[in-house]
Amino acid sequence: MTARGSSVDFYDVVVVGGGPAGIMAAIRAASLGDAKLKKNVILIERNSSIGRKILITGKGRCNLTNSADIDGFIGKFGKSGQFLRSAFYKFSSDDLREFFKKNSLGIKVERQGRVFPSDDRSLSVVKALEKALADNNVKVLTGSRVMGIREEGGIFSLKIEGATEIWTKRLILATGGASYKVTGSTGDGFHFAKLLGHTFNPLRPGLVPLKTKERWAGEMQGLTLKNISIAFEYGSKKITSEVGELLFTHFGVSGPLVLDLSAQVVDLIQEKKEVILSIDLKPGLTGEQLDNRLLRETGSHGSINIKTLLKDLLPLKMIPVFASTLNIDPAKRINQLKHDERHAIVKLLKAFRLTITGSLPLEEAMVTCGGIPVKDINPRTMESRIKPGLYFAGEIIDATAPSGGYNLQQAFSTGYLAGESAANPDFSRKGGAGA
Ligand SMILES: Cc1cc2nc3c(=O)[nH]c(=O)nc-3n(C[C@H](O)[C@H](O)[C@H](O)COP(=O)(O)OP(=O)(O)OC[C@H]3O[C@@H](n4cnc5c(N)ncnc54)[C@H](O)[C@@H]3O)c2cc1C
Repeated sequence: MTARGSSVDFYDVVVVGGGPAGIMAAIRAASLGDAKLKKNVILIERNSSIGRKILITGKGRCNLTNSADIDGFIGKFGKSGQFLRSAFYKFSSDDLREFFKKNSLGIKVERQGRVFPSDDRSLSVVKALEKALADNNVKVLTGSRVMGIREEGGIFSLKIEGATEIWTKRLILATGGASYKVTGSTGDGFHFAKLLGHTFNPLRPGLVPLKTKERWAGEMQGLTLKNISIAFEYGSKKITSEVGELLFTHFGVSGPLVLDLSAQVVDLIQEKKEVILSIDLKPGLTGEQLDNRLLRETGSHGSINIKTLLKDLLPLKMIPVFASTLNIDPAKRINQLKHDERHAIVKLLKAFRLTITGSLPLEEAMVTCGGIPVKDINPRTMESRIKPGLYFAGEIIDATAPSGGYNLQQAFSTGYLAGESAANPDFSRKGGAGA
């Protein structure tokens, strides 16, 4: 097509960003329309291939969703949870699994309802998505970074590096967040949204390792504590975890328990609150039960020293740090322990404390918190409330969850809903695309 004397290509629906949200949006939009009049849909991706971030998810295994029910999903997204209700109803975790099965991908469910491809390969997930794109005749334009977007009279025009300008009336922005930039998610979408009249909430790291003031955390680098629980304390308040795992790193702490609560801690640190990480090394026992256990040990093996006693209670790598924090000579025999010293051991087992000073940067966070505020998006369609014809899907939206497959399902569900609404705007604006 030629417009204003220059050559441009026109599409019914244009999707920017070939991550899970954009891919699903393109598949859904292209699947609509009657047999003769299929929607003409293009997916534009800056990398030479789609789904780069999917490849590194779940440590290369891709935890693609969770078997939780819809309310379980909504609960994981905190304040943004209700906004996602329509999207999760429209395309649920069950629907996603059915979709993958139809596209020849075996699925399995593991502990805590985490869903993976049955061959443990994230590449198989990308292959299944590529198959669905091809089956639905989506034009996929890779190696093509969108450089700028303008809107005039309801028509969006996209400037693309090394390619013809593209025009559309229905544009879906699915450019992801701004972390792990090497995968292509450099935050371009926030800039485009701003050009189109939107604001966005400040970007912060989520699912991110935390730094501690205590250098000795580094002495335990590589040590994973299992079956412990943690609490982040600030003033008289605290955020607590379930029982799980924590990993010591050269700069502080990581592992599932820390990552899942990290977004809240990052917010507290930004508010200049002092945050203490308190690790309960024996969550299955009360302080009293632990004290009784130490007393029994003193009665039956009183001549052993503290270091030997601790071997029964703690991983080897932790003992020197634990003993030096206690400030009791580790060679002291346990039957020489004073009442106060025994109590100090119990106290430290129940509350091993470190001071949080910050987090690794956004670049190293698994998700980006912040982004397009949900109040500016219609939850029943994913259409912008500010610029008609513009839709959002995936991590560009300010709606993230802890680990467990919830974030990928968010991307797939909002992508599906955005794709459906963009392909059927009149229908969806009348409320047809709701739950
Ligand atoms: C290490 C790691 C592990 C993770 N593991 C899991 C997991 O197991 N389970 C889970 O649920 N979540 C996981 N996540 C989070 C999950 O990957 C993201 O939430 C999800 O990928 C977001 O999807 P999206 O489509 O919105 O964005 P992205 O996947 O980031 O895709 C956005 C795409 O847009 C493209 N793009 C950006 N700008 C432009 C432009 N200007 N022009 C053209 N293309 C552009 C990018 O190249 C990219 O391909 C993990 C994240 C990381 C970093």
